[in-house]
Amino acid sequence: GLSGKLQETIKKIRGQGRVSEKDVKDMMREIKLALLEADVNFKVVKDFINKVSERCVGSEVLESLTPGQQVVKIVHEELIELLGREQSKVTFAPKPPTVFMMCGLQGSGKTTTSGKLANLLRKQGKNPLLVACDVYRPAAIKQLQVVGGQLNIPVFALEDNQNPVEIAKEAVKFANMKQYDLVILDTAGRLHIDEKLMDELLDIKKSVVPHEILLVVDSMTGQDAVNVSESFNEKLGIDGVVLTKLDGDTRGGAALSVKAVTGKPIKFAGMGEKLSDIEPFFPDRMASRILGMGDVLSLIEKAQEAYDEKKAIELEKKMRTMQFTMEDLLEQMQQMKKMGPLGDILGMMPGVDAKALKNVDVDEKKMARTEAIIKSMTKKERNDPSILNGSRRKRIAAGSGTTIQEVNQLVKQFEEMKKLMKMMTDMGKRGKKGGFGK
Ligand code: GDP
Ligand code: MG
Repeated sequence: GLSGKLQETIKKIRGQGRVSEKDVKDMMREIKLALLEADVNFKVVKDFINKVSERCVGSEVLESLTPGQQVVKIVHEELIELLGREQSKVTFAPKPPTVFMMCGLQGSGKTTTSGKLANLLRKQGKNPLLVACDVYRPAAIKQLQVVGGQLNIPVFALEDNQNPVEIAKEAVKFANMKQYDLVILDTAGRLHIDEKLMDELLDIKKSVVPHEILLVVDSMTGQDAVNVSESFNEKLGIDGVVLTKLDGDTRGGAALSVKAVTGKPIKFAGMGEKLSDIEPFFPDRMASRILGMGDVLSLIEKAQEAYDEKKAIELEKKMRTMQFTMEDLLEQMQQMKKMGPLGDILGMMPGVDAKALKNVDVDEKKMARTEAIIKSMTKKERNDPSILNGSRRKRIAAGSGTTIQEVNQLVKQFEEMKKLMKMMTDMGKRGKKGGFGK
């Protein structure tokens, strides 16, 4: 993939001493090929390479003592620029309800994303209402109802009304009455863009005047995703893009071209089929991910999400007073299971190759052994590991079917973990302050 290709190129140059103009030229050719292969729009690639080359042959690189690192920095900065520089937030109405209109082709992920967004924004204090405006397939209404049901978020539908404009208007009225402050319209899609679809969307736009028209595009479709975005923007006018299926084997081209081609920012990224698999789109994080630097911030956020708020506060207090115990560790491990496969999480860490982790179950096994060890401890031992003398450790090893070495190792790691977790909660807290949607 793109990330692998760029990493190879960058590895070559990273530790290098002085570089010549020819070195830079060679590298630009490789980056260009990697981008084209990733299905990035040709014009975008050309512009990008020109900008990066110009900066790279400047004195800032050629005269630097660490030219490799300078080049990486420039590529990173220009990628961020290409991806939209700043995180683009959604607009909320000064006077609720805010109306989001989700549009896009069939199968792009509108219905799933409507649910994901409602879920995400509810966590930030909104009271969302989902609206079934896709009247052409009875299954579409049902699908949104299933999504709403899973999230425990209400779905507004008028099963015997075939007019999406009326449904949207009724839904806004209903939201006003029932104090829903966020209305998310799940509209119909088509396999291809056609007049009828655009007219219908324009009608909805005119009559409810949404605060955000979000176009949902499938990143797996590469250049097509970009063409679709361009057409929707020309004909309907959009405020932002949600790029879905970034978890798949996508070549990354869509992410890199959308902003440059349409001028409209990517606001969210869909990262999987689960209704929690959505993230605000951060250009700098995406750029780091593409360059293979890993995405520490996403990792921490994911960890943070899995705690329920109250437990996190409790835990934080314990950490501050250093009362964190093995009992808490056990609970943490259960929380970690909620975050999804360990491989997913490790894959986001710097220096870890996500592909190599495809079949990690070793770590999960180790986790099960750790659980067994803690479960073999008495409550007193869990609360105060300092009392774990030789005979206690022997008993625990026997009880859990492990070895004394493993028990020793766990006790040692536990102390390390305490430090690490403290760091993570501190960073998470800082991240939250500047959080999205505020
Ligand atoms: P719609 O026709 O635009 O409403 O699309 P749907 O919401 O029904 O989604 C189409 C398919 O794409 C479903 O199977 C979804 O589970 C899947 N999907 C949506 N978003 C994502 C994503 O971010 N990642 C992955 N892997 N699948 C997704
Ligand atoms: Mg749908």
